[in-house]
Amino acid sequence: MNKKQLLVAAIENGTVIDHIPAEKLFAVVNLLHLEQITSAVTIGYNLQSQELGTKSIIKIADKFFTDEELNQLAVVCPNLTLCIIRDYEIVEKRTVDLPNELFGIVKCTNPKCITNNEPMRTHFHVHGPQRNALKCHYCNTVISLDGVQLIKP
Ligand SMILES: [Zn+2]
Repeated sequence: MNKKQLLVAAIENGTVIDHIPAEKLFAVVNLLHLEQITSAVTIGYNLQSQELGTKSIIKIADKFFTDEELNQLAVVCPNLTLCIIRDYEIVEKRTVDLPNELFGIVKCTNPKCITNNEPMRTHFHVHGPQRNALKCHYCNTVISLDGVQLIKP
């Protein structure tokens, strides 16, 4: 085993989220509501990465997220790698897929939008041929995926 790959301790069971651009780490923590998790969470911040320069990694012991929860992460980092670990082995490895609809994660930029004026969750449809924009279900405002503002938990 290459010691350089062991910057963050292995976990027996759980979820590993890898290739997080360092500046997106806290957005991922917020989206997964890691502050509410009671099992061990290990965060490696600003680790060296050949592809990204620096990256962050999160290991969450004894926690398996739903596809819906994990796919929300594509809003902030389209190239994350997810690994599901059971008995110290990677049993599933995949990237995130942006879902067609997003509920309650992205803020509408239109101040007159009903979602900014009523206590209701936002609803966006993925928009455009490159799927790189979001369209508000209520006011049709189109937001580029690069510039989304997340709703603070
Ligand atoms: Zn709107």
